[in-house]
Amino acid sequence: MNISDVREFFPILHQTINGCPLAYLDSAASAQKPIQVIEALTHYYEQNNANVHRSVHTLGSRATEAYEGARVRTARFIHAKQAEEIVFTRGATASINLVAGSYARAVCKEGDEIVVSAMEHHSNLLPWQQAAKTTGAVLKYIPLQADGSFTIQEVENTITNRTKIVAISHISNVLGVANPVQQIAQIAHKHGAVIMVDGAQSIAHIKVNVQELDCDFYAFSGHKMSGPTGIGVLYGKKALLDGMEPIEFGGEMIAEVGLHDASWKEAPWKFEGGTPIVAGAIGLGAAIDFLKQIGLDVIEAHDKQLTRYAIEQMKRMEHLTLYGPEEGRCGLVTFNMDHIHPHDLATVLDMYGVAIRAGHHCCQPLMRHFGAGATARASFYLYNTEADVDQLLNGLNKAASYFEGVQPG
Ligand code: PMP
Repeated sequence: MNISDVREFFPILHQTINGCPLAYLDSAASAQKPIQVIEALTHYYEQNNANVHRSVHTLGSRATEAYEGARVRTARFIHAKQAEEIVFTRGATASINLVAGSYARAVCKEGDEIVVSAMEHHSNLLPWQQAAKTTGAVLKYIPLQADGSFTIQEVENTITNRTKIVAISHISNVLGVANPVQQIAQIAHKHGAVIMVDGAQSIAHIKVNVQELDCDFYAFSGHKMSGPTGIGVLYGKKALLDGMEPIEFGGEMIAEVGLHDASWKEAPWKFEGGTPIVAGAIGLGAAIDFLKQIGLDVIEAHDKQLTRYAIEQMKRMEHLTLYGPEEGRCGLVTFNMDHIHPHDLATVLDMYGVAIRAGHHCCQPLMRHFGAGATARASFYLYNTEADVDQLLNGLNKAASYFEGVQPG
């Protein structure tokens, strides 16, 4: 499949917004879905829908096979050793909460450390704040440089023998550059800590090999990689998952239930209480097939090239501030225009068919680090083109002249 033909597979992109072609530049919030994913969902609901694991009838077997097949495809996609290392969750947020609510609470004691950075998305921050509060562990921050990134030296300086967990994003949803998680994993392991990687932004853009990274946990969401909403993944090394207690209890996850006690299934099923997200997992499997067909290396090169193109053009614009490191950015630019609130900017851009994100991007500590209450963010994925970026730049110029006109003085 050629990347230039990819747009054809995304029905949603073939529409006009306010009379202009849609330039969807908000994939970091949620990516659009190709017809292959939509059809996989329709096919499941039209032909195979049933509850899984318990039913002996044909539809039940088909649904179970498709659900467990999606687990195998997901494991292969991230190079996990075995399918049993894949827990299906509601999304990256739920995956991180599972580790913070189970592993961290069991392992951390008063005075232990959980290491994070101020670039983290709230979903990779609040669960650790809560875990620190309940266990008496100290939440320690890797100091950030002016551009929002951190150095490996600062990681070395922050992690100690009291550190039990290091929780870090693979790619920040504001900075768009990959953190050296493989090196961070080595440092964490040297001190006897585990590393939890928030892969919500990386999974769609770069090849992920959890064995090469040697991360202990890796979390991501289906909807950011052209899969459905409501499905996510927690990868965990099998030995760690085996040692963890579930945080949700009910049907599906049990081995034996008595009047006052119960025992659980093996991992990963003990973490999937209640009727699982069957259609979501099947849609995720279809998204994985789609991305693999194009090739993650092709997608990464495309996304990086578009980002570079956008940055080069935006650097030439007056009254525009870019945030974050300039080099190695994959898939997003974060910026502000003088005297224009990002929400106003996003509203004007929408008038010209351009969809961007404005706000704190669930990264309030990082916004504070930049001295900005909010920023605008344009994000790119495999279906975006230079024409989309040009439409954005055109919209920015229009917004600049529009607000110049309405500004007092
Ligand atoms: N981490 C990062 C870096 C993200 O960008 C996001 C989504 N914005 C999340 C975590 C949370 O993902 P979800 O809302 O799908 O659970």
